Order: sequence, then structure tokens, then C-alpha cells
Amino acid sequence: MSWLNRVRQKIPFITKRETPDNLWHKCPSCGQMIFLKEYEENQSVCPKCQHHGRIGPDERFDGLFDSGVYVLLPAPQVREDPLKFRDSKKYSDRLKSARQATGEGDALINAKGTIEGLHAVVGVQDFAFMGGSMGLAVGAAFVAGVEAAIAERCPYIIFTAAGGARMQEGILSLMQMPRTTVAIAKLREAGLPYIVVMTDPTTGGVTASYAMLGDVQLAEPGALIGFAGQRVIESTIREKLPEGFQRAEYLLDHGMLDMVVHRHQLRAQLARLIGYLTPAKAA
Ligand SMILES: [Zn+2]
Repeated sequence: MSWLNRVRQKIPFITKRETPDNLWHKCPSCGQMIFLKEYEENQSVCPKCQHHGRIGPDERFDGLFDSGVYVLLPAPQVREDPLKFRDSKKYSDRLKSARQATGEGDALINAKGTIEGLHAVVGVQDFAFMGGSMGLAVGAAFVAGVEAAIAERCPYIIFTAAGGARMQEGILSLMQMPRTTVAIAKLREAGLPYIVVMTDPTTGGVTASYAMLGDVQLAEPGALIGFAGQRVIESTIREKLPEGFQRAEYLLDHGMLDMVVHRHQLRAQLARLIGYLTPAKAA
């Protein structure tokens, strides 16, 4: 504890002043100071340079579903910490602090509702929860989301954000790659669309599986999308990579994406796609 804090504790009438940190957001791209309320009202997009900030499930669902109304789907129960893993910290402790920080059970949350009147089940991966990493819980939630979509006869839309597989679960995290792929095949057999929206950042095992298997591949502007990191690739091939490599716009130019959509237009664009792709319900 610093000297100042010790003194402050002893003098009860000095209350902690509301710091500018709570009122202002500094854009990591252009450095502009934005009034936090204004930034949040703009869906966490910088009004000056259009940099898209990372957002979690709550904010995503609020901005996506009609009138911000949706039903959260229950998270499937999975075996926790199956390897009793420990690196510099215990995995169980990492889980505990991620849950405290985000208020979520794990890194993928599903909800159902309507987007411009059209039904959809939507999964959102939260980068704030252990880097959005894919383990047993994320795999199970993905499968549950697909099953809910099949039951509702509507599309499954996933917003990806991940540093990759959850290394604390070893091979079990990698097993989620085929597992989610099989789920997508089931959705396809049911004749229902699977739409991917890649958000910043989508990398590793998630990119190598369900993030790349959409019937339509969307991404938010500026999102980092790749398998291995730029430095790893550069040191392997011993070449300098081009400007903007692994960014959404670069991937669009090189045929890896169908469209890059501004967050403000996402709702309308998704509604249009659902309309095109979902079979009309039998009267
Ligand atoms: Zn900015």
C-alpha cells in the first residue's frame, strides 16, 4: 500500500474523487478523448476514426435484437478443469477471476430473439473472458446454440472473438474444433443458415474451425483475423508481411471474407441475409 493510500484511509473525509477514467474513453486508434456515454451510445465505435471497440455479449445483444429484447440460453454444464492444470496460476483460479470480472460463466453466451422481426439464435464470444478462448464450455455452448437454432428453425449467428484454444484444457480444447464442425454440418442438414461475424480479434483454433465455416462470412472493420500471429509468420518465412496483413479489409480483398460491415449497419445487413437464406416457415 502506498503512503498516500495509508494516509487516505486514516482520514475518512477524503473520498476518492471520480477520476476522468470513468468519464472519458481514449480511442486506441486515433487517441481522441471521447465522452464515455457518447462512445457507448455510438455502440463503442469511435465517432472520429470509426475504430470498433471490443464489446461483450450484453452490449452486442442490446444493439442487435429488436428493442434490445432477448432471452439468454442456459449454459451447458461441463466438466471443469479436467486436467487440474496449473501454470503460473491455477486454472480454477483463473476461471474464478474471469467470472468475477465479466459476470459470465464462460466465454461464449447464446441468446435468442428477433432481428427486424426475423428469428435468430446468436452466440457472442467475449474476449474479456480469458481471451475468448475455446475450451469444453465454449464448445458445449456452441453446440447448444446450434441445437436451439434447429429447434427454432432459424439461423445460428456467431460473433467470434478469441485468442485461440484454451491451453489449460490441452487436447480437450482442440477437440472442440471437430465437435463444432459436426454441429455446423447438422445445421446444414436441417437446411438452416450459419452466419459468422468475425470481430476483433479472431485467431488460432477458432479461426481454424467454426469461424471460417459460415455460409456467409462477415467481419467488423479493422478486425484482426488470422491463425498464427504476424511475428510468428514473419520469423518462420523470414519475410516482411504487407501492410494491413490479417486485417478484415485485407482478407476481404483476398477472398477470405464476403463483406466487412460497420457495426451500425450490422443489424440491417444480418436481417437481409436471414431473409435471403432462411426457408419460409410452412404456413
Ligand atoms: Zn478514434
